[in-house]
Amino acid sequence: MKILVLNAGSSSLKYQLFDMEKETILAKGLCERIGTGGAVTHKPTGKDPVSEEIALPDHGAALERVLALLTDATHGVVASIEEIDAVGHRVAHGGEELKESARITASTIAYLESIIPINPLHGPPAIAGIKACLALMPSVPQVAVFDTSFYSEIEDFRYVYPIPYEFYEQDRVRRYGFHGTSHRFVSAELAKALGKPIEELKIVTCHLGNGSSITAVDGGKAIDTSMGFTPQEGICMGTRSGTIDPTVVTYLMKKHGYSAQEMEDILNKKSGFLGVSGISNDTRDVDAAAKAGNYRAELSLKILANGIKKHIGAYAAEMNGLDALVFTAGIGENQANIREKVCENMKFLGIEIDVDKNNNFTRGVPFDITKEGARVATWIIPTNEEYMIAIDTQRLTQGN
Ligand code: AMP
Repeated sequence: MKILVLNAGSSSLKYQLFDMEKETILAKGLCERIGTGGAVTHKPTGKDPVSEEIALPDHGAALERVLALLTDATHGVVASIEEIDAVGHRVAHGGEELKESARITASTIAYLESIIPINPLHGPPAIAGIKACLALMPSVPQVAVFDTSFYSEIEDFRYVYPIPYEFYEQDRVRRYGFHGTSHRFVSAELAKALGKPIEELKIVTCHLGNGSSITAVDGGKAIDTSMGFTPQEGICMGTRSGTIDPTVVTYLMKKHGYSAQEMEDILNKKSGFLGVSGISNDTRDVDAAAKAGNYRAELSLKILANGIKKHIGAYAAEMNGLDALVFTAGIGENQANIREKVCENMKFLGIEIDVDKNNNFTRGVPFDITKEGARVATWIIPTNEEYMIAIDTQRLTQGN
């Protein structure tokens, strides 16, 4: 079975074509600057990659180009579109109703359109990607996989904000959680690596990338997570503040006369490591500056590590125990010093890492960094949201 996985952003479209039987990627790529120009990078496995500048006025044009490249005589990997059995779409927000990955129907699209007010950035491009696909591949079954659905069983006292209840009832303001596909994937991979049923494990998964979130996974189900109504809540990120006292927002707006949009931009695009360090949103740059003695760079890394540590402690308390800790995504998979900072002085909780293994880890595979004899297993698990989407798509379309 061949499955195309699509991830549409506001001006981008990422894709991967999987051969599920062989568990291989046939091709992957990225369309960028959709709507303002256009560029495509196409990487077919075993063939030369393609980079081209080409007008991409909308997501439909981008997908059309992707399908042409996938079937191209020189750069293609399939003879025709008919070889693609199903398409899986990454959709960030499934609202309260789309609690699981689902086959795309007219009512799925109508519901996604109805929740655009609470998902204004990611909703429209995801819907555009789905509609483009339905137009170009009308007979191919399509599945949507939601970042929020891993959190659909979180209990009400963890998702209702302590503000007037009408805002939840009327405006659907609540915690939804994001990155669920990644947390679901790495927790399942960890259970596999440990050779234990996930139902018996209490795990904290740390997805630390440009956007970061932490999830408590008890018996295979997410019971709490750091992101909330939007991916803004939680720990300090590349350019996002994470959780701060809400009065800071109104105070700064009143003092400086910022509009809601200006304030949102400050919190979303100018905060996090970038805002504190003044150097970069990329921890590699911030780390280099910290090593060279830059106080603000070092401070931003301390804020990050401390935020992660606090969530691990809180989630161990919520789960009444902890068996395993997972690090994943750009920072979690690559940045040994952050893992070390997070795990120091956590022996009381059973977390102890082998510093040598942590520094000399193997990239791209599940890697155990637990110190011998430690109660909690600590692992680096490379995330693979696209493969998780492909697995769900296969499950929901097999036999069609
Ligand atoms: P992600 O959002 O998962 O792609 O993570 C991207 C972020 O991970 C970058 O902005 C960096 O802050 C951080 N990072 C640290 N080391 C690496 C690395 N070796 N490769 C990629 N990202 C890294």
